[in-house]
Amino acid sequence: MATVINNTMLDAILADVRPLIGRGKVADYIPALACIPGNKLGIAISTVDGQHYSAGDAHERFSIQSISKVLSLIVAMNHYKEEEIWQRVGKDPSGQPFNSLLQLEMEQGIPRNPFINAGALVVCDMLQGRLSAPRQRMLEIVRKLSGKTDISYDAVVARSELDHSARNAAIAWLMKSFGNFHHDVATVLQNYFHYCSLKMSCSELARTFLFLADRGRAPHLTSPVITPLQTRQVNALMATSGMYQNAGEFAWRVGLPAKSGVGGGIVAIVPQEMAIAVWSPELDDAGNSLAGIAALEKLTRQLGYSVY
Ligand code: GLN
Repeated sequence: MATVINNTMLDAILADVRPLIGRGKVADYIPALACIPGNKLGIAISTVDGQHYSAGDAHERFSIQSISKVLSLIVAMNHYKEEEIWQRVGKDPSGQPFNSLLQLEMEQGIPRNPFINAGALVVCDMLQGRLSAPRQRMLEIVRKLSGKTDISYDAVVARSELDHSARNAAIAWLMKSFGNFHHDVATVLQNYFHYCSLKMSCSELARTFLFLADRGRAPHLTSPVITPLQTRQVNALMATSGMYQNAGEFAWRVGLPAKSGVGGGIVAIVPQEMAIAVWSPELDDAGNSLAGIAALEKLTRQLGYSVY
């Protein structure tokens, strides 16, 4: 008989991975994130047939950081034709840290994919070109997808990142030098930092990203978020590039499309079944949540889930 999901099972998974806390490191290059307690641990699941499960700190909000890169791509997909996006950003894994400049110079300012910083900055540059108020628009979309009207930016985190933005600014300026960045660098960086500073809980993330498990449809919305084909494309990008230089290791251990953030969150998708969100702030060397990956590995093994 198939293993059934319930909150007790999720509690047991969290208890199993809790001993890993202490082996990773909370992100400290954004000073406002360095003060987050490393012992937070949460998991939430939303299923396409309307079930919600959660355990641990699943209802506490944290900085979603690079998980927001999926949301900005979705918004770009709604406002640009396919070829307009993919002539400015690639679809291949980078095998490099998320904030690397190395390949950008070699590849004429075209980022490898939309989930490394360079790629997400190009996507934010696109949004600046077609949205009249990109920050307000993003809030509206996240609030609509999550069903929570009080989701907001963390001004302290956004400010902290702006104060330590040399590398992201360098990435944007390098792309500008190649003609792949059209708007004011400071304005676009500010939008990007705000998107990264969105505060959401595991339970809100699982609901928000459920459309990626359901061919682009969110259960509570009448019109689709993206098309079934775009959903397939986004999941493919998450599977190949969502976990940076550890995408292969993650595919091996977990086997699902996923996107991490340096706040310690990870969203993973089981196509046609569910969206899963985990949170544990301590990171591994690639900037992915250490205990979060372990929790996803246990869960997928128990349930027998993998896209491979
Ligand atoms: N805001 C972070 C940065 O730009 C996001 C990185 C991440 O979550 N991997 O460096």
